[in-house]
Amino acid sequence: MAISIRRVICGLIQENCYIVRAEGRDDCVVVDPGDDYPKLKAAIGEGRVGAVLLTHGHFDHIMAAGQMAKDFGAPVYVGAEDAEMLNDIEKCDYTGMLGLDRADWPVIDATPFDGALSACGMDFTVLPTPGHSRGSVCLYLAQEGALFSGDTLFRAGYGRLDLYGGKMGDMLRSLKALFALPGDVAVYPGHGEATTIGEERARYRI
Ligand SMILES: [Zn+2]
Repeated sequence: MAISIRRVICGLIQENCYIVRAEGRDDCVVVDPGDDYPKLKAAIGEGRVGAVLLTHGHFDHIMAAGQMAKDFGAPVYVGAEDAEMLNDIEKCDYTGMLGLDRADWPVIDATPFDGALSACGMDFTVLPTPGHSRGSVCLYLAQEGALFSGDTLFRAGYGRLDLYGGKMGDMLRSLKALFALPGDVAVYPGHGEATTIGEERARYRI
């Protein structure tokens, strides 16, 4: 099935939010609405948000999720192990960079992912990829050959390991699992430009 993927770069640290739509439908899935809610809303246009999918619990990927969920009545999903981070400013604002008080933090009510998710006419496989955080996931559209990799896999890099729940051994296992996907799968990371599994796999010896 043909899909369209629109990238909107959000917020303080230029996070990639993706608006994903199956051809012929007006509803869409939003991956990692990081901030800049008015900008995201304008990019969504007249469409309806059917689901908000979070690759992990860091602030730069989640800040518009609560408002979006409220406005569109859309469910929010996150990896089970990262659910605790969403409403805990010390765990999700890892640098204290936002300088927000606890009281200002938007409340996000999320459901843990459970293996697979069908939304807005698309079938996502949820791949648990701990390493950057314990509950990091990559969202795979097998039929369409697209992977939303959050802060696990970037073009020419992978996510930081020194934050809450980060672990090198987990990251290596997660990258290895991703590199078992077909080489022509397009990778849409949480920061920076898109790439492919084949291109990234060629950089590593794991
Ligand atoms: Zn992150």
